[in-house]
Amino acid sequence: MSKRKIAAGNWKMNLSIQEADKLVTTIVKSQRDKSVHTLIGVPFPYLMEFKAKTRYMDKVDVMAQNCHHKASGAHTGEVSASMLASIGIEYVIIGHSERRADNNETNDIIKEKVDLAFANGLKVVFCCGESLKTRKAKKHIAHVKKQVKESLFHLKKADFDNIILAYEPIWAIGTGETASPEQAQEMHREIRDYLKTKIGTKSKNISILYGGSVKPANAKELFSQADIDGGLVGGASLKADSFVPIINSFS
Ligand code: PEP
Repeated sequence: MSKRKIAAGNWKMNLSIQEADKLVTTIVKSQRDKSVHTLIGVPFPYLMEFKAKTRYMDKVDVMAQNCHHKASGAHTGEVSASMLASIGIEYVIIGHSERRADNNETNDIIKEKVDLAFANGLKVVFCCGESLKTRKAKKHIAHVKKQVKESLFHLKKADFDNIILAYEPIWAIGTGETASPEQAQEMHREIRDYLKTKIGTKSKNISILYGGSVKPANAKELFSQADIDGGLVGGASLKADSFVPIINSFS
């Protein structure tokens, strides 16, 4: 994957399939800038339906919101990377802070998920980000680098072709509070510089998204920062009225 403008929505555990269907239809009709790649994080039961709906669309695709860290077996209620691949899914979100918190997903577990995703030919949207406590202690940059190092730095250089990173400060997720464009740009530059130590100049081609209360009012300024290649959007991706203007916010 080369670097792209990406508007990624994460529906989390929201929307009925009927609501979701209307939303996707409107998004597809309303996307102005055809160079933007729109990704939608769809709940597991709807993945096949929306994969089929978007199959022939260049600019819109679906993502799974998670996969399990084991290949198969006695893990009731879980979904494996190979299951996702078997239904034609190409993208999976791994390491979202809600999963890290709710399911005790450590950097090591996330590393296992990343490996299984790649073993099954999936592309990974890898989430990282710090808590407010960590930022206040001025340890946020070290914290995010540690997440990147412990879950990704064992990979081969070529694997990074199939990674999108999403910096999502936890204090900004679903809180209405957004990192300022300067705060976000600072972290994105740190991440890109850090990736350079592992993959060299290829780091310039990695898409790094910002996530945390992105909305129509702040998307343009965030997306115009040098190292911000788009957004991972939760709440505002649930309504066409807010997600479509975000998709159309790239200059
Ligand atoms: C998210 O869950 O990835 C997210 C960024 O949520 P929100 O946009 O609602 O803050």
